[in-house]
Amino acid sequence: MPFTKLILKFARQYPGWIILTIFLGFIAALFNGVSTTLIVPVILIILGQNIDLNNLPNIMQIIIAPLEGIPYNYKIVIMTGVIILGIIIKNIASYSSALSASYLIKILTIDLRKLGLELLLEVDLEFYAKTRVGDLINRLGGEIGRAANAINNLIRIIITGITILVFVFLLLVISWQLTLITSILLSLVALANQYVIEKSRYFGKQLSDLSKAYSVRVLETLNGIKLVKATANEEREYQLITGLIRDREQADFHSQVSFASIGPINEITSILVLIIIIFLGRSFFASQLRAISALLLTYLLVLFRLLPFISQLNNARSQLSNTSASMEIVDEFLQRADKPVMKNGFFPYTSLQEGINFQNISFSYPNHSELVLKNINLYLPRGTTLALVGASGAGKSTLADLLPRFYDPIAGSILIDGKDLKEFDIKTLRRAMGIVSQDTFLFNDSIRNNIAYSRPDATEKDIISAAKKANAYEFIWRLPQGLDTIIGDRGVLLSGGQRQRIAIARALLQDPDILILDEATSALDTVSERLVQTAIDNLSQNRTTLVIAHRLSTVQKAHQIAVLDRGNIIEVGSHEELLKKGGYYSHLYGMQFIDTDQELLETDPHQIAMRTSYELRTRLNGMIGFLGLIADGIVDNPEEQKELIQESYKSAVNLLRTLEFYEHNMKDD
Ligand code: ADP
Repeated sequence: MPFTKLILKFARQYPGWIILTIFLGFIAALFNGVSTTLIVPVILIILGQNIDLNNLPNIMQIIIAPLEGIPYNYKIVIMTGVIILGIIIKNIASYSSALSASYLIKILTIDLRKLGLELLLEVDLEFYAKTRVGDLINRLGGEIGRAANAINNLIRIIITGITILVFVFLLLVISWQLTLITSILLSLVALANQYVIEKSRYFGKQLSDLSKAYSVRVLETLNGIKLVKATANEEREYQLITGLIRDREQADFHSQVSFASIGPINEITSILVLIIIIFLGRSFFASQLRAISALLLTYLLVLFRLLPFISQLNNARSQLSNTSASMEIVDEFLQRADKPVMKNGFFPYTSLQEGINFQNISFSYPNHSELVLKNINLYLPRGTTLALVGASGAGKSTLADLLPRFYDPIAGSILIDGKDLKEFDIKTLRRAMGIVSQDTFLFNDSIRNNIAYSRPDATEKDIISAAKKANAYEFIWRLPQGLDTIIGDRGVLLSGGQRQRIAIARALLQDPDILILDEATSALDTVSERLVQTAIDNLSQNRTTLVIAHRLSTVQKAHQIAVLDRGNIIEVGSHEELLKKGGYYSHLYGMQFIDTDQELLETDPHQIAMRTSYELRTRLNGMIGFLGLIADGIVDNPEEQKELIQESYKSAVNLLRTLEFYEHNMKDD
């Protein structure tokens, strides 16, 4: 059975509650049995039938043995009292057992969700590249709920099983011959249920699959709502999601149909079993019918009381198989062995003393053979800035991602003051690194909390000072609620430049030892860009900084520039050194950073050719990268695929324009 390991784990964790629940169920079953056994003789006696108490079946003799010596009439009163008391105790016990089962399910659900959440926070980014967030939310919510319910069903099966055993024991003691026949007939009833149980399993699996598809789609549509609206795809999304809702509810309805059929199937077949037993009993004991009528009636009553439990058992079995898909999903979800988790080091990171050394670093993304970084060697002394430049897809972001250990290199090592990055405790290491990228995430919360996210204990004064240094205070101050303004999902209520300045304020507040910057390529107006730029200058001053540079001013100021081309470092040096060298960087500089390049283009055909070649290469690189991601099946989210295709389309159009521009210029020449 799936989930067995998890069940055992919980059995070990909460043995007290499990034993208590089952014990209470057992007590309920016992008192149920005792009272049921006594009912027929007491009724017969009350109705005036003269019954010799010493002639009752053994089991009843045992039950009334303590009444030995008490006068007949008192015995009847006591027996009636025992029946009433037995029923009361049975009900209290089964009520308590149900409560304790509910409690157990509650703590189990909380525990499973905690385990899931811990795992999600612990696994590496690589896991998220392969898994859809909607699917994870579905697993953490719906599937865990259903799986915990499965445990409830399992406990119900155990308790109902115990009750059935108690009753079958009573039946055996009263008449083993009849019980043999009853057992065979009841097995046939159970067999009749097997078909329904299989159907339940099938629809349960369908329900899980459709729940996942539904959650994934809703979340992705909402995340990409801008794209949905921009491409006027609301109707398509609506049809798709309502289709999933319909199918999901249909599967749920089919499950309900299966459960609902269990009651009637069991009741009808059980009554048939009962009638068969009455007829068989009559022919079995034909000669002594009068004498043993009490026994036969007791047998039938016990059997009659047993039948609903059989129905309950079948129902719980059906529900259990309905949730078996969820159990498998949760079991797989909570497995740690197959999920990527960084190995942590022992040494707490304190501060950078000398510098960071990238030593013979090579890297390929998990499950990809292509090397994205090839034998990289760089040294970044403390307090200096290293700018990474190169065409899109050259590997700049990948190299920057290795520093906070979002990924580990497949060869070589990164040394901090001579010690391998892997030897440091990952949390202290990451806390010492500030990352400001073009798409920095902001929570749908107040500006204050967004800035203080890097240091929750920061005072108002610290936050304001960081906001001022980040050139953000002025616009924050003008907002109606100032620092307490809520900025919407991912900060949609702010402009791009404002979002970046909030992110910079966050990094300033964190005051990181090492700064990783991913400069925005465009999208900011001149004023905004200047504000962001000075904020970044404030942030990177006297800090060890690795920057993915797109601006001339950044590379000019950097102590070192490393030029990356298809995963290789092809040049390292300062701006002046590299210009003097007249290599790749000086071409790049000429083509990419000089604003007056129009003049160059008009006068120097060689430069036109170089620039065109560079432009074509950059656009082609982007396109190949996007199409590669789709072809490799890495992006299985249709929205992202669409976005990538649109980007590729844009690149292709730009390619054409560049070529046209080139042809035009050459013609003029
Ligand atoms: P840059 O920052 O210079 O534009 P990147 O470091 O983003 O370049 O990408 C380098 C190469 O790695 C590209 O070919 C890109 O397609 C590939 N790549 C980036 N991220 C992933 C990923 N998560 N899985 C597989 N390949 C990736």
